[in-house]
Amino acid sequence: MHCNHSTQTLNESTGEILVDQTQSGKERDWKGKKERSQLTAEHFDLAGLTSKAERMNECADTLVFKKTPEALKLYQSWFCKVRLCPMCNWRRSLKIAYHNKKIVETVNERQKVRWLFLTLTVKNTDSESLSETISDMFKGFNRLSKYKAFKTSIKGFFRALEVTRDRDEYITKKRYDNNPAYYKRKGLEIGSENPNYGTYHPHFHVLLCVPTSYFKKKNYYITQDEWTTLWKRAMKLDYSPVVNVKKVKPKENLEDVKTYEDDFKRAIKEQNAVLEVSKYPVKDTDVIKGSEVTDENIETVKALDAALSYKRLIGYGGLLKEIHKELNLGDAEDGDLINISEEDEVANGVFEVVAKWHPGMKNYVVY
Ligand SMILES: [Zn+2]
Repeated sequence: MHCNHSTQTLNESTGEILVDQTQSGKERDWKGKKERSQLTAEHFDLAGLTSKAERMNECADTLVFKKTPEALKLYQSWFCKVRLCPMCNWRRSLKIAYHNKKIVETVNERQKVRWLFLTLTVKNTDSESLSETISDMFKGFNRLSKYKAFKTSIKGFFRALEVTRDRDEYITKKRYDNNPAYYKRKGLEIGSENPNYGTYHPHFHVLLCVPTSYFKKKNYYITQDEWTTLWKRAMKLDYSPVVNVKKVKPKENLEDVKTYEDDFKRAIKEQNAVLEVSKYPVKDTDVIKGSEVTDENIETVKALDAALSYKRLIGYGGLLKEIHKELNLGDAEDGDLINISEEDEVANGVFEVVAKWHPGMKNYVVY
């Protein structure tokens, strides 16, 4: 593929390898993300998507940090913003996690609510129909959110569209054991050819905010069967789609919550569980399987790029949308990927650290 900006000799550099740690001492994996981005860029190039490949290849080539006594803070860099870029998606995920933490904290401070996870799926589709299926799903979700039952019971939501691909050529034991009844019904055994091999699975992960009375009042509560019926109607399907709804289970074993009152403790634990869905819904391991260039990976890149470009994969509704706006959180998908949280804003005049990607060393070197 093309030019490397960073072929300067190491003479100008300090020869030091970049180490960027969070305040709790966890290392930020710039090198790992950059390598995945370059691998993805290689696939883009081979898929004929050359201009995106070039952009992705240059993504975050140079990182300028401000150094404070506590940590390094990213100050300048250029991000390619390609939907499938692992580097950009890492930054997007950090930003979404920060946004959702703020939003959920704000809601929990102001009122007593409960949180639910809802998964909405449709049948798997091939690469040709993927784009259309996704558009239908956005329309379907829109319809769903306007139904009376939804409007009565749901205070707000965060939704993320994820697309995975079925990569198992044969039915594995693990898959079979997950849902033996399904495979028996289809006449499939462990080791049978997987009829869904190579198909795509678009689905929504939705975080729902409901009033505490949701579980107590009959006209508020929506059962899993009712969710299925609503989604089927919204999507105008002639089959019953797989829908799953569950309460957010508070995450236990949080040491720092021991001192809090029970109600508050529960809210904090719930917040931690909520953050698990607060990621950018494109996993780079779903796009590129393994660490080699393969035809299957190139095919996946082509299909996902065509289906996901220019689409907004995440969205907020109701109370969560209002608070997102009120807190002035900005766009995590196409917006600034340098400053991802308030804590990132640093005063001018602190010492700068410049790190450049060195293709030969496959690492960031400090200049
Ligand atoms: Zn990028």
